[in-house]
Amino acid sequence: MPIGRDVIAVVGAGSVGSVTAWWLARCGAQVVWIAPSHGQGAGPPSSSLAALGVLMGHCSRRLRGRSWRLRRTSLALWRQWLPMLGAVPRQWGLTVLCHQPDEVERLRALARHRRGEGCPLAWRTRDDLLDSWPTLAAADLQGGLWSPQDGQLDPAPLLAALAGDAKRLGVQRWPAQVTGLKPDGGSWRLQLQAADPAVPATLPASAVALCTGLGAGPLLATLDPAIRLNWPMLPVLGQAAELHCPMLPPQGLPGPVVWRGVHLIPRPQPRQLWIGATVEPGDRSQTRCFDRMLQLDGAAPPWLRQARVLRRWQGVRARPVGRPAPLLTTLAPGLLLTSGHYRNGILLAPATAAWTARQLGFPPPDARPGPPGNDSGPSMIA
Ligand SMILES: Cc1cc2nc3c(=O)[nH]c(=O)nc-3n(C[C@H](O)[C@H](O)[C@H](O)COP(=O)(O)OP(=O)(O)OC[C@H]3O[C@@H](n4cnc5c(N)ncnc54)[C@H](O)[C@@H]3O)c2cc1C
Repeated sequence: MPIGRDVIAVVGAGSVGSVTAWWLARCGAQVVWIAPSHGQGAGPPSSSLAALGVLMGHCSRRLRGRSWRLRRTSLALWRQWLPMLGAVPRQWGLTVLCHQPDEVERLRALARHRRGEGCPLAWRTRDDLLDSWPTLAAADLQGGLWSPQDGQLDPAPLLAALAGDAKRLGVQRWPAQVTGLKPDGGSWRLQLQAADPAVPATLPASAVALCTGLGAGPLLATLDPAIRLNWPMLPVLGQAAELHCPMLPPQGLPGPVVWRGVHLIPRPQPRQLWIGATVEPGDRSQTRCFDRMLQLDGAAPPWLRQARVLRRWQGVRARPVGRPAPLLTTLAPGLLLTSGHYRNGILLAPATAAWTARQLGFPPPDARPGPPGNDSGPSMIA
């Protein structure tokens, strides 16, 4: 297919690159999406397929500032955008349990504060919780936050749905690794390496969005030092697992639960859960971290102690050093970096994509002039 001068190159096929390529196409951009296939050696593998897909927005402890704005915007955008993506498995509602008496007042105040901002967040007492879900019993359980608009998305079907709709919208997906990046008379030229001989060796693009996670550092090292990444990112490994819990009754949990910092996600299959994730600096997994997570650091209830591990996996998150996650920055005219989403790359992908579209001057579809009913796209809240 012919490539015009006004191409936007989106690099990376994790959650951030997938949502960005899709959203730019919906906003009317001509997108070439550089999306290496698995095992293509494009730096560290995508962490997005390892994620549990928990959307911790309203129940975040942040009261104000950039992190809170990104979370709130993203939740709102996911609610608008998911209906365009078909049947992505999702669960709305998240319960964050509290086991520390001195936290109770703070969490009640958080719920009041959020409700004052129009975000539904409620405190459920210990009795409220145990009346409906005795499986949550623990001597020190104080109660929990109930956030009906937070939730969970299954990452693999989500990425597949984004790729399918991006293709329908005309996005060209090239299975390649970007090995170099050069300014080229007001535009950019990407050097590509691909197993498929049909993929060209270079791509001229008017703008580039680097959604490359930990791959951003090595790629930017090929650039002029003036444009190098000044905020390195460090790997932080996470392990997760799928469990079969023979003693867990049907509807045993009130949906996804955060229990002593560990996520428990009910699966459609009876008595099955996802559990995750460990937080291990570096890129090597440690068995003791996995075991501690499974045992909720020694506080697991009997039904969880009896669980059998059906499958386990791991991924490596990108954590910015010296800057809050994520890095959303214009490195040079037409060169955008959106990486370093650390523990929230599924949650924050929409706010990131909306930021990129705005930086590149693309109004959201329903803000473009056109005949009424021409595009049923969403309004944007970012
Ligand atoms: C176990 C675990 C559980 C998690 N749970 C959650 C959760 O519940 N909720 C949540 O929001 N987040 C969660 N996360 C975090 C989330 O997975 C990440 O924040 C998110 O996946 C980051 O997405 P990304 O697109 O930035 O990066 P990645 O998914 O790492 O994708 C980067 C992409 O860039 C490509 N790339 C890199 N270099 C190049 C190059 N030179 N050329 C071409 N392509 C390149 C890679 O191949 C890859 O496709 C979890 C992470 C882990 C490990």
